[in-house]
Amino acid sequence: MKLIMLGAPGAGKGTLGAVLSDTLNIPTISTGNILRAAVRNGTPVGLQAKSYMEAGKLVPDEVIIGIIAERLEESDCQSGYILDGVPRTIAQAVALEKAGILFDHVISLEISDKEIEERMEGRRFCAGCGATYHIHNVPPKQEGVCDKCGGVLELREDDKPETVKHRLEIYHIETEPLKEFYAERGVLTPVATTGTLEENTRAILDAIKV
Ligand code: AMP
Repeated sequence: MKLIMLGAPGAGKGTLGAVLSDTLNIPTISTGNILRAAVRNGTPVGLQAKSYMEAGKLVPDEVIIGIIAERLEESDCQSGYILDGVPRTIAQAVALEKAGILFDHVISLEISDKEIEERMEGRRFCAGCGATYHIHNVPPKQEGVCDKCGGVLELREDDKPETVKHRLEIYHIETEPLKEFYAERGVLTPVATTGTLEENTRAILDAIKV
């Protein structure tokens, strides 16, 4: 099973991707998480990506294509995976297709910009392991502390309101055209994300007939 979680920043790609990953027993691959780890570790890719990420801009396609090609070669990807946050441009989608990578379903998480702006203010991530939370919707057991590794939970630099507005603009211009790209290939499934986490998960599992 090869899936793409498509949607605006804050639509729930990471959260729903993690639940689906447990249910389907396939890994979630998030270019955002890979890049944040690279920035933390000061790798050459991290140094290249840092300024784009902090400004809420997209990291250049060639960097992303390199990261994803390498990651999909790893052994845990052999029986499928869920892509979270990639592809994000037509060029990235074309590169995957050219590499012979085809998808069973592309789940398009539908949500209004206004809801996203409200949601992003409550989002937190673990500086230690990259796990994501929401202060109301997906709270950690102990406030400010990661359930998985005990790390400190933080507001991402790029989740600040002014950066969120910019990221949404980029989403509409660069990423939203992917809906048509995958609709033409007959694999696009729009899913409204207005329900609870359980309801949204069920809607996706129904859509992919699991
Ligand atoms: P995310 O966690 O998916 O919201 O990604 C955080 C940031 O990482 C984005 O705002 C971009 O700067 C960068 N990024 C992640 N994935 C991609 C991608 N597929 N293409 C370009 N930039 C990306």
